[in-house]
Amino acid sequence: MQSGREVAFFLPVVCTDRGQHKRRLLTVARRELDGSGGMSSALEWFAPPMGAEAEPRSLIGRDSYIFACPSCSRKPQINRAKWWNLVDEAGRARLRELDLSLLPF
Ligand SMILES: [Zn+2]
Repeated sequence: MQSGREVAFFLPVVCTDRGQHKRRLLTVARRELDGSGGMSSALEWFAPPMGAEAEPRSLIGRDSYIFACPSCSRKPQINRAKWWNLVDEAGRARLRELDLSLLPF
């Protein structure tokens, strides 16, 4: 019997600007065993995809997560499907965290 939602893993998402500044935690991605997921601190250091409600030219993406590191000027924008693929890969590889500044975009 399954009782409630069980978490498969948590993945802290950080920025270090490739080692240029102190490790900065932006959010924690959470993957649940039923395949759903979420991220903490929405709208603080990242904006989730907002679909049709996204205003043109606003910081909110329609299909993308947009991260904004407060310690450097990095503002990576990542397609929703691509982002969760990355999170799952990191989870399978048992990475302790994901450093956005080391990703190739
Ligand atoms: Zn940064």
